[in-house]
Amino acid sequence: MNAHALMQSARTEIPGFAGRFTGPEDAGYEDARAVYNAMIDRQPALIAAPADAGDVAGIVSFAASNDLLLAVRGGGHNGAGLGTCDDGLVIDLAGLKEIAVDPGARAVRVGGGCTWGEVDAATGEHGLATPSGIISTTGVGGLTLGGGIGHLTRRCGLTIDNLLEADVVLATGERVRAAADENPDLFWAIRGGGGNFGVATSFVFRLHEVGTIVGGPTFWPVEQATEVLTAYRDFLPGAPRELNGFFAFASVPPAPPFPDELHLRKVCGVVWCYAGDPADAAEAMAPLLEATPEPVLHGAHEMPLPALQSAFDPVYPAGDQWYWRADFVREIPDAAVEAHAELGAAMPTWQSTMHLYPVDGAAHDVGPTDTAWAYRDAQWGSVFAGVDKDPSNADAIRRWCIDYFDALHPHSAGGAYVNMMMDEGQERVEASYGANYGRLAKIKAQYDPTNLFRVNQNIEPRP
Ligand SMILES: Cc1cc2nc3c(=O)[nH]c(=O)nc-3n(C[C@H](O)[C@H](O)[C@H](O)COP(=O)(O)OP(=O)(O)OC[C@H]3O[C@@H](n4cnc5c(N)ncnc54)[C@H](O)[C@@H]3O)c2cc1C
Repeated sequence: MNAHALMQSARTEIPGFAGRFTGPEDAGYEDARAVYNAMIDRQPALIAAPADAGDVAGIVSFAASNDLLLAVRGGGHNGAGLGTCDDGLVIDLAGLKEIAVDPGARAVRVGGGCTWGEVDAATGEHGLATPSGIISTTGVGGLTLGGGIGHLTRRCGLTIDNLLEADVVLATGERVRAAADENPDLFWAIRGGGGNFGVATSFVFRLHEVGTIVGGPTFWPVEQATEVLTAYRDFLPGAPRELNGFFAFASVPPAPPFPDELHLRKVCGVVWCYAGDPADAAEAMAPLLEATPEPVLHGAHEMPLPALQSAFDPVYPAGDQWYWRADFVREIPDAAVEAHAELGAAMPTWQSTMHLYPVDGAAHDVGPTDTAWAYRDAQWGSVFAGVDKDPSNADAIRRWCIDYFDALHPHSAGGAYVNMMMDEGQERVEASYGANYGRLAKIKAQYDPTNLFRVNQNIEPRP
């Protein structure tokens, strides 16, 4: 079926559709097909933007009955471009923007197309928050279904550890609720299993009291990376849960509030978020600062949590080239520190970066088989991200990223955080779900036996 005929049949076969269709011949097509990573350049045959969950059900049924390749887009941030596809049908959930905060119940209901900045702004008004990621333009849908690592992980757990329920459109078009007391196997699978099981049209998250935090970076010259990373490795696991601090290689952004003399300087550092009494933050950070040389910048200060959650947005706008790899890490032996120091210092562009995100603290209160997220014994999630605005640097950032990954992978736990993977093959997906893969494949066979939802880090149905 050509794109024009597809649009006509979608219009007739989805009665009452209240959303919008965009095809290759429409004026808005170029904007509608763009995703965050400009390295991804896919041409869907049809983009359907539903107005509500009923529309989503209609589109899913239409895709299934016409045997169409189906991609589901939340915030469009996926590095591998899993929110779009060539020649198939894309469901763009951006119109599902409901946000209802219930301060009394300490819960928020969020539409499947929201971004985290929208959620943080609404919950922040009440001094409340649920754990999410570090860039506010990231979609709630993809981040949540893959797990969710961020500034509050050590105090409050992963995003999935705070998911209370979700409304899901299944491959049949049926709309169900997934929660501990309803479809518990589905609820287990969507907490880490990605978009494999259906389209989540809304989520309900637990909220925590988080008002003013102490956040921001401490930077040291990249030449001091061996000393700083060794001290960080020894310090972080024993730090109080209120203190999150991810280690990073980066270049100082060439803009205020960073001092001119540091602009574009390669550094290593820690990005802090102390989510306890601000008066206790300095004491919590002190052991690391005492064990390391004088930093070139110590920028941790009091701010509302949403300010930290969006602090890096200007450094990483949509439309840049991205290539990244990831791994879970249980420990960082000296040989790994040395490899980090060498490859971290070789970042090919100023936006390229490496992060070690803590996944301990409250994330370790949940067992490895309690949700689909298998690596509950990992200490960090590492990510090697090559980023640049210029497409002619695409090969350079990809090469650096893969070299870095290859050098550190022998020191990893074996699998990666699925939300920070590229298209790396089935073996790698299985390694990333570890011991949970078999159960996930069975649940997939139950809910999506034809693998309609396969534009993702795919779990193949196995009855
Ligand atoms: C700049 C940047 C910063 C990031 N920072 C973090 C971070 O701090 N912490 C972290 O954990 N991750 C982070 N990520 C990774 C992020 O979690 C993934 O890229 C995630 O896939 C993004 O979700 P999305 O909805 O924006 O993506 P999309 O590209 O829209 O979708 C990604 C996948 O999720 C599926 N999906 C999305 N929404 C739904 C839904 N409602 N129902 C069913 N399936 C759905 C899609 O089908 C697709 O397979 C970051 C990514 C980027 C690019």
